[in-house]
Amino acid sequence: MQLARGQQAAQRSGARSTRVCQLRVNSPVVSRGAVRVLAVAAAPSKKIKVSDVTAVGLKDVPLRSLFPDEPKPPAPGAPKLKVAIVGGGLAGLSTAVELLDQGYEVDIYEGRQWIGGKVASYVDKDGNHIEMGLHVFFGCYFNLFRLMAKCGVLENLLVKEHTHTFCNNDGDVRDLDFRFFINGLKVGAPFHGLKAFFTTPQLAPLDKVANSLALGTSPIVRALIDPEGGMRDIRDLDGVSFTDWFLSHGGSRNSIKRMWDPIAYALGFLDCDHISARCMLTIFQFFATKTDASVLRMLNGSPAERLLAPIADYIRARGGRIHTRAGCKEVLYETAADGTTRVTGLRVGPMGREELITADVYVAALDVPGIKKLLPPAWRTAHRQFDLIYKLVGVPVITVQLRYDGWVTELKDAAKVRDLRAAAGLDNLLYSADTYFSCFADLALTSPVEYFKEGEGSLMQCVITPAVPYMAWTNEAIAAETDRQVRQLFPSARGLRMTWHSVVKISQSLYEEAPGMDLYRPDQKTPVPNFFLAGSYTKQDYIDSMEGATLSGRQCAYSILEAAPALRSAADKLAATAATAAAQKVPAGAAV
Ligand SMILES: Cc1cc2nc3c(=O)[nH]c(=O)nc-3n(C[C@H](O)[C@H](O)[C@H](O)COP(=O)(O)OP(=O)(O)OC[C@H]3O[C@@H](n4cnc5c(N)ncnc54)[C@H](O)[C@@H]3O)c2cc1C
Repeated sequence: MQLARGQQAAQRSGARSTRVCQLRVNSPVVSRGAVRVLAVAAAPSKKIKVSDVTAVGLKDVPLRSLFPDEPKPPAPGAPKLKVAIVGGGLAGLSTAVELLDQGYEVDIYEGRQWIGGKVASYVDKDGNHIEMGLHVFFGCYFNLFRLMAKCGVLENLLVKEHTHTFCNNDGDVRDLDFRFFINGLKVGAPFHGLKAFFTTPQLAPLDKVANSLALGTSPIVRALIDPEGGMRDIRDLDGVSFTDWFLSHGGSRNSIKRMWDPIAYALGFLDCDHISARCMLTIFQFFATKTDASVLRMLNGSPAERLLAPIADYIRARGGRIHTRAGCKEVLYETAADGTTRVTGLRVGPMGREELITADVYVAALDVPGIKKLLPPAWRTAHRQFDLIYKLVGVPVITVQLRYDGWVTELKDAAKVRDLRAAAGLDNLLYSADTYFSCFADLALTSPVEYFKEGEGSLMQCVITPAVPYMAWTNEAIAAETDRQVRQLFPSARGLRMTWHSVVKISQSLYEEAPGMDLYRPDQKTPVPNFFLAGSYTKQDYIDSMEGATLSGRQCAYSILEAAPALRSAADKLAATAATAAAQKVPAGAAV
């Protein structure tokens, strides 16, 4: 109620507000001030509902490298370690869930006041849910679906029509349509994909033929009969750009411009000239081999409410603790005479009130700028794995939300455009080759629970890529230009009023999946035995995405489980040595 009132008031006054969220990690400068107990983001623990994960085709999982085996339930007497995870994005949350399921003790330390990292959202003072970015779930997000099923929230995903929709200027909407039925029977992979690419009106006939030639001679064909072999071939293509690969296989420039560039921007915020062929073909092999992989799903509301809060509930219900506003400023460590380094603690908390925390195992589940700031400089010199991380860079991106007083994408019925009682228009992720935003959606339609508001219309969420030229623009200028381009696409929007906007700029978001970058992605296991990495930028076979982050968390947790016996005995040995040293320090005659 309050939410709607705030919004209506803003609308009545015709107010336009700007919310800027410059995402930055905390400064690594450590002051030696007083230490305080960190606030745990409190929520009552409750019984967690579990969803039926088979509903999203988990049986279709293609490769072990993309969906690791479940660990065995913990054996009696198996070591249960205390784990400190730095970073409360999906990778950190996924690591925590896996370890809690094994009975481990887990604390998450997140620098911001909310969890979720790049998938987070927050509510502004007027009740608007501001997202860090537009998030879409492909049908091949097997690790994320599994995580959501554990937390009982698979039902929060709304399945969209099995089409990828391209919006060209002046209301010209064209589909890449994967729906394929013969005599009422659904036809699946790979035929539905062939049909989609052969029939799409987004491409001219010659471009369609060239497209088919390129895809037909790609490792995707091998993946149909030999998924592991196909994946190996795809990994080997990391050194070339998608454009180079595509053109050398007969593809045409025009199909890059009209179709593949918007898709590449949506996947990696890069165009086809700058994204690696590995990145694009990883997704396409799923699309070609699994019927539902290309089906798009979107949350029914905001990520904070519909995805992250349930995961946090799951974590707390199992005794995990989530500390927010608890950025890690420094990793403390010691190096033994034999050169082995061991983390001894973390300095976390707000500037001037840092606290020293200790655990058996430490995980840095960070983004690229975060890990670069956190790693002790000496580790770079000592270990190549850490040094290579500094070759990775983040891509800037801008997300704009625009609220209208009607339905922007309703191209068929003019009366519906103005009818604010029911949402109308295109209910799917939308791509465009004609605007500076590559993908967008009307959240009031796609994710109505938090975003449809009676008396208000579309909430367009547009992702601007490449964002570099616009990072220095004012938010008002960005909103005005985005609004202009929305109207350029949709004649239906031309008589409407934009009533509100917000702009979120992220100066370093996904790691740049440019040719050759895969080499620099670190393994979850590191040369420091009790220090592990997670994060979508770390080595995992999926692209930088929610699925990649979740997978990296699983891989990280399983590496910890594998190392647990050695880590436990090392920790016990250290404790025994410390106890002996303490006993030797007791002055003669003192009571012990
Ligand atoms: C605009 C946009 C749109 C996107 N769209 C999609 C999509 O449609 N589909 C999809 O699958 N993916 C999408 N993604 C990608 C997806 O959001 C990310 O790949 C994923 O969320 C990364 O998760 P992560 O946990 O690896 O990293 P992050 O989410 O970056 O989490 C890292 C966390 O570490 C915290 N941190 C950093 N330093 C410290 C420190 N020193 N101490 C404590 N905490 C620290 C950060 O605050 C952050 O919470 C999109 C991303 C963006 C930006």
